[in-house]
Amino acid sequence: MNTIESTDVLVIGSGFGGAIAAYHLAAGGAKVVVLERGPWLRADEFDHDFELGKSYTRIFDFVVGDGMSILGGNCVGGGSVVYFATMPRAPRFVFERRGSIGRRMWPASIDRDVLDPWYDRVSDALPITQQSWDRVPYAGGLWAAACDHAGRTANPAPSAIDLDLCTNCNWMMAGCRFDAKRSLLLNYLPAALSHGAEIRPLHEVQHLTRNADGSYRVHYRHVDDDDYRILHGAGEIDAKIVVVAAGAGATPVILQRSEPHLGTMPRAVGRYFSGNGERLNTAIYDEDRVRDVLGLQRSDGKAYSAYQIGRGPTVASWDRLDGSLPEYERFSLEQLYFPPGLGTILAQVPGATGPSWFGVEKKEMLRRWQSWLTIFTMSEDDNEGVFGPPPETGNAHRLSQQMLGVGPLRYEPTANTWRGWRASDAEVKDILERDGLARVAPWTNDLVGAYTVHPLASCRIGDDPATSALDDRHELRDHPGIFVTDGSAVPAALTVNPALTIAALAERAMPGIVAAARARGVAVAYTGGLPTGVRAGVGPGAMPAAAAKV
Ligand SMILES: Cc1cc2nc3c(=O)[nH]c(=O)nc-3n(C[C@H](O)[C@H](O)[C@H](O)COP(=O)(O)OP(=O)(O)OC[C@H]3O[C@@H](n4cnc5c(N)ncnc54)[C@H](O)[C@@H]3O)c2cc1C
Repeated sequence: MNTIESTDVLVIGSGFGGAIAAYHLAAGGAKVVVLERGPWLRADEFDHDFELGKSYTRIFDFVVGDGMSILGGNCVGGGSVVYFATMPRAPRFVFERRGSIGRRMWPASIDRDVLDPWYDRVSDALPITQQSWDRVPYAGGLWAAACDHAGRTANPAPSAIDLDLCTNCNWMMAGCRFDAKRSLLLNYLPAALSHGAEIRPLHEVQHLTRNADGSYRVHYRHVDDDDYRILHGAGEIDAKIVVVAAGAGATPVILQRSEPHLGTMPRAVGRYFSGNGERLNTAIYDEDRVRDVLGLQRSDGKAYSAYQIGRGPTVASWDRLDGSLPEYERFSLEQLYFPPGLGTILAQVPGATGPSWFGVEKKEMLRRWQSWLTIFTMSEDDNEGVFGPPPETGNAHRLSQQMLGVGPLRYEPTANTWRGWRASDAEVKDILERDGLARVAPWTNDLVGAYTVHPLASCRIGDDPATSALDDRHELRDHPGIFVTDGSAVPAALTVNPALTIAALAERAMPGIVAAARARGVAVAYTGGLPTGVRAGVGPGAMPAAAAKV
């Protein structure tokens, strides 16, 4: 006889939404299994290399959609392993946003005051600290000086990086081999393991079915360790509670694929996707003007020429995060390092006379890449993304052995979204082209459409059943016992980096999910604890032998 494995709580995905759920439920006494489609790497396996098969291609996921591509994590720890760890809180006005639906998008029960204590908890757990000017790398200093010169303000951003361990190597997207970046591998996940949770890498959930007793059966496939296009055997696990936290690009797809088995999904599953209003501009600095106009000079006599030294975004300009400005005209501007690859391909030559993303002028631009400054915008988009029918497996048709796939997302930017992008482009130009400091051009979105590293809102919380898939406790409408705690639950663009808000919402949802688990017969309590004090990196060796089996 074939016995189906069972657990109290099954968590899909091990990024912010998944890791926080796994920790609290395990700490409270529930039996927790986490299924993660990506591999599980330790710090010493994070390479400084872009070669296929190195950590960069193994843990990174790039899904091309129609008009919008999504970049994210594909590993135990999810986006926290590849991210830049800039962790601001969402500004107060964000929670009052109405968007084009013409009513408050966030549930009435949540505003910035409500979320602050949950932000505090995550800030303690990771931990997050405020960077100081004396630790800001060259690119951040240059951005700050240019803002000041243009009469704007700029500030170091709060971040989840231990600066005493950071070497400013700028290889954050390939995973941090110094354990300086406070990814989930250093806090919530080891704490969940210490309370008995199991994490199973290379397990990709395909769909859910419902059992006669109201519990759920989670159906998964094993992903090949080298070639993610190859799926091996299948398996099932029964669970009283399912927490779906596969990220905003994957969660709606799993739920859509489950619809024939579970019954009609709420209308908002796979709609209202937001790319967090993202946009990139690249500036090519004139080193002489940097010296003459801004008075900057490094010890070796160079004015700047240091794009590659640092750690993702360190300094941001928040002048336009002003709640009195009209919606779609509010945004933040962050200096950013994007490593060679996508960034260098898509950077356009400012004022090119010929082709702007290849050709002789592009070659000259690449020769000067150390004098670049990339500015990342997060504005207010219009939640215009819609997911089409799900692919056969996973959330994309995988094109290459690792990293690249084509997914079902369609995104046609509305005039509102364009308003935000154009206003932020103009602001960047105004700051950086002043007195001939630099020449600026946006990335070539015409080629592949827009892109986002901050997918949100594809299965969002809200009060209105027509426009939100989840109630304000993150339970999927009409499907009791299924909760969503990842970025897809966030109702709309945040105008800042979203991971802290995703994590705070997940923390806020936990007492309710624990109560729902108890109501379904799970012996679990909400302890209110935090994974403080756990600071060791965690790898597959930390798993019980049975769980390590793929
Ligand atoms: C290059 C880069 C830089 C970033 N920098 C920042 C930053 O500085 N600050 C910030 O706030 N945010 C940043 N982000 C965004 C941040 O990483 C995400 O917002 C955050 O990780 C989202 O959390 P999540 O829980 O929604 O999903 P994720 O962290 O994406 O976790 C989802 C997990 O689910 C897994 N999964 C997907 N499908 C399945 C399936 N079918 N079965 C099992 N598992 C599955 C995925 O592999 C992944 O591990 C960055 C992202 C990128 C890509």
